[in-house]
Amino acid sequence: MTWILHIDGDSFFASVEMSLNPALKGRAVVTGHERGIATAMSKEAKALGIHRGMPVYQIKKLYPQAIIVRSDYHNYSIFAHRMYNIVRRYAGKVEEYSIDECFARVEDIETAWKVKSDLQKELGMTFSLGLGPTKVIAKVASKWNKPDGFTVIEPDKLEGFLRDMQIGQIWGIGPQTAHHLQRLNIKTALDFIQRSEDWIRGNLGKRELELWHELRGTPVYHVHTSHDDLPGSIQHTRTFNPPTTDKKILFSELSKNVEGACAKARADKLLARKVYYFLKTQEFRYHRFEMALPEPLQTPNEILNLIKETLGEVHKAGVVYRATGVALNDLIPEAYEQKSLFQEGSACPPGPAGGVKNEKKREIFKTIDRLERKYGAHSIILGSSMRALTKKGERVGFHKRFNLPFMGEVV
Ligand SMILES: [Mg+2]
Repeated sequence: MTWILHIDGDSFFASVEMSLNPALKGRAVVTGHERGIATAMSKEAKALGIHRGMPVYQIKKLYPQAIIVRSDYHNYSIFAHRMYNIVRRYAGKVEEYSIDECFARVEDIETAWKVKSDLQKELGMTFSLGLGPTKVIAKVASKWNKPDGFTVIEPDKLEGFLRDMQIGQIWGIGPQTAHHLQRLNIKTALDFIQRSEDWIRGNLGKRELELWHELRGTPVYHVHTSHDDLPGSIQHTRTFNPPTTDKKILFSELSKNVEGACAKARADKLLARKVYYFLKTQEFRYHRFEMALPEPLQTPNEILNLIKETLGEVHKAGVVYRATGVALNDLIPEAYEQKSLFQEGSACPPGPAGGVKNEKKREIFKTIDRLERKYGAHSIILGSSMRALTKKGERVGFHKRFNLPFMGEVV
């Protein structure tokens, strides 16, 4: 059978610190010094009673033996990529879910054991693995026995595991939903899956119905490989330094990505019908948004307007982001759209005004593309992307650029 494997690094940040500095092994190690609160704790620190979010001054006072270090996201991300790559040796499909977690599809239990053994030998830390028929069950399994766990939940043994699982502990059920379910007398995951499908449909939302299927062993969620290998998609992603919480900087980064992706679309003579963008947090979580475009596009302005309108929903105040990315999806060849634009009796012709306006805009951008080929990349950029360029320290040779804030710029 095909299993979903979930892998979770135990006390990941603290474990990376100990792996890099063996003198810390066996000690109560806490990360998060720079934020003034504990962000991760070794199991020794947990045993003392130190928990996530505990203020550093309090830890120092109560547990003078604890070693509190600054977080080093650079090293954590190196370890994360090593983890993903080790898993890829054994599994074709690996989803980089977060800085210390990933999902994979494996064909047998022995393979999962090999993954665990390689990870622990090569990264010098422990991992908890869970195997199940679906992603949500694999998550239940990896959580079942931590640290250094290996739990298999076979489809016919589900009930035994779900009986002891509080509904609020299920991946995807937030505190509000948990509260709502408890009021409906659903206390455990088993109570939840014992309700009928009709009852779920009648009383709860789409998300809960998906979870209900997943918890009963029917896969709804796929293992997503990184978006770079989506077919029919053009992506532009960029990590920046230092990471930021600033929405303006993030918008500028997105603007630069949109410009890059659109330039590629024009070079390939393609038009996008959908756009997807994301903000990636310092802990590798993705805050994403996908939308259909009002018409097929290869120029940035309308896309940026749409991003501007929706960024408030995606961006979370106070969260530190380290990368942004944009993907133009659902691509069609330029020629195809031209045909539908001018052909008589076309099934769904776009408004003539919009079509002509687009044609003009496309011409302007094609002129920009020609100038860029002549004078170099970024010689003409959108005003909204300027901040991203200067942030990256690309000021060298800045005077040489035209840096024309483009007409109709969105900022
Ligand atoms: Mg973890």
